[in-house]
Amino acid sequence: MIREIVIYGDPVLRAKGKRLEKIDDEIRVLAADMLETMYEANGVGLAAQQVGTALQLTVIDVSNAESRPSRMWLGGEEVDPNEHMPLILINPELQLDHEQEIGTEGCLSFPEITAEIPRAAKVKVKAQDLEGNQIEFEAAGLLARAVQHENDHLNGILFIDRMSSAAKASLAGKLKRLAAESKAP
Ligand code: ZN
Repeated sequence: MIREIVIYGDPVLRAKGKRLEKIDDEIRVLAADMLETMYEANGVGLAAQQVGTALQLTVIDVSNAESRPSRMWLGGEEVDPNEHMPLILINPELQLDHEQEIGTEGCLSFPEITAEIPRAAKVKVKAQDLEGNQIEFEAAGLLARAVQHENDHLNGILFIDRMSSAAKASLAGKLKRLAAESKAP
């Protein structure tokens, strides 16, 4: 089932996600709905907060973004990221590389807004999957960016928090309008 995507201005986007201690049917349905919602909106990632639930759960799929390559390693071996999509990450923990790179980001909760955001070039991820198994991988390229963007959502952090102050100032009008619309009945 496609769920409504929460737009900037809704306080749930600022809520820190609750750790998931058990994965039940409700969570499985939520994860399936989040994937469906993300695909329908042509996104590469969606966090639980973006469908109105503050939980440590996010879904990612970078396989349709051919122009923005991703790299992925499992147990130190490089793998084809497309063969491991979609990713459903529960209670993720990130270890960021010191090297940063700047790249363009958008967010389904901020329609028509993009900005250049610095992110760690490489990231090590530990999380649980929907079966409760511990998963661990390293990512670079778009996948590394998507994981960091979504993990931020799980902690109530939004990409506007990581924009330069000049970029944020130039978007101030648009952000104000978005927030006003999301509060309208
Ligand atoms: Zn986002």
